[in-house]
Amino acid sequence: RIVYLDGQYLKEDEAKVSIFDRGFLFGDAVYEVTAVINGKLVDNEGHMIRLQRSCNELQIALPVPLAEITNIQKELIKKNALNEGGIYLQISRGSAGDRDFGYPADVKPTLVLFTQARELLNSPKATKGMKVITTEDIRWKRRDIKTVGLLAPCMAKQAAIEKQVDDAWLIEDGYITEGSSNNAYIVTQDGVLVTRPLSNDILHGITRKALLELAEKEAIKIEERLFTAEEAYQAAEAFVSSATTFVWPVVEIDGHTIGDGKPGNVAKKLREIYIELATKTAE
Ligand code: PMP
Repeated sequence: RIVYLDGQYLKEDEAKVSIFDRGFLFGDAVYEVTAVINGKLVDNEGHMIRLQRSCNELQIALPVPLAEITNIQKELIKKNALNEGGIYLQISRGSAGDRDFGYPADVKPTLVLFTQARELLNSPKATKGMKVITTEDIRWKRRDIKTVGLLAPCMAKQAAIEKQVDDAWLIEDGYITEGSSNNAYIVTQDGVLVTRPLSNDILHGITRKALLELAEKEAIKIEERLFTAEEAYQAAEAFVSSATTFVWPVVEIDGHTIGDGKPGNVAKKLREIYIELATKTAE
């Protein structure tokens, strides 16, 4: 695989970053993942806007303009002949050659990109649905900033793996915040699509935004409000969204079967029309 590091396209084992890089020492870095379908970027503009926002919140200067980042994404897709999967990009504050907590004055951010080949359209999780457990949300209070400080979600995901399920939904003060790496939704028995409102408590998913717009066009009733695990157990449907999963139905939560244990109609419909839109608008 060819990867990108600070102006250079390199073989993956030739790309090296300093041990003093603040991404490595402090998790002082932000990232984005954009889906690739048919060799094209899906909803990339949304990801670029969020990247800019994450950088602004942390006072990290963009090492190159957003348009140039997109050129690099496209070049990397070409160099790796990536047809379907994702492109990961990370900007860390960089290295000041030592370890100090305060932001160094003259530091050059480190920009890294790499591709990941994955089957996105034909995923078994999409057709069978996933099982999740719930676990305490122990993350920090700025989940709206997409930082690489991901140990809490790693721990949640590992707990899920050890319980032989697919993922974890996180709970704070009795309410679901989101999944370990996705936004969480339920559909009530009355057909209302429920998902947590945007705040610093969750990541403002790019896929979430697109799905809510599509749901509105489909005249699906939407409530952006808090919901508990108990409400989710009783729901007609549940599902998650993220850039590279699109929509994955959830058919079991904490051992409770959701609906009839099969992917629900709202989840299936939203996945279908999201993929249709994504395929049409990818660039
Ligand atoms: N929430 C969290 C915690 C995530 O890590 C992700 C995926 N990065 C999402 C939600 C989904 O966001 P997006 O649709 O922009 O991929």
